[in-house]
Amino acid sequence: MTDPEGVSVLIADEDLRYQAPLPGDFGQHEFVESEVLRELAGEVVAEFFEPREDWQHQTVSRAWASGDITVLWKLRGGRALAKCMLPPALARYLGAKTWLIWVAADHAREGAYGREKLSAVLHHELLHVGIDIASGKPGIVPHDAEVFAEEIADHGVWRDDLLPLVMACRDVG
Ligand SMILES: [Zn+2]
Repeated sequence: MTDPEGVSVLIADEDLRYQAPLPGDFGQHEFVESEVLRELAGEVVAEFFEPREDWQHQTVSRAWASGDITVLWKLRGGRALAKCMLPPALARYLGAKTWLIWVAADHAREGAYGREKLSAVLHHELLHVGIDIASGKPGIVPHDAEVFAEEIADHGVWRDDLLPLVMACRDVG
């Protein structure tokens, strides 16, 4: 497999359908829809959100089921691999869904992302889908913790919000 810059990328056959689109596939646009990406997001919701009965995961399941989340490829991600956002009011007026998740096609291609990594990216972004408790309006859930590896290495679990993160790391060995 060769990308437009002539860099060879090794990719497993079963991952071929998950390959990010090439710049030419975007035409004049910055975003492009993808049945494959949408299907994969649906599978991630079914596997990781629907079975979990807490409010946060069920919020995501319901939002997905009612078509309130759009998943798109983005031509270039800049510093971001992917993003979950609330489209601005004008975009909403013009028909945008409540939440927009985009995945950067350039980064996914460079990283030769297949099904597994794309699932992880989508899982991460879907975890950002939420409702602001105070206002009851759609919101973006912040990360569990913002942290440097060095501070944990040198000071251990010194903040309560670091504990779930450290426990999850232990679980995966
Ligand atoms: Zn994030």
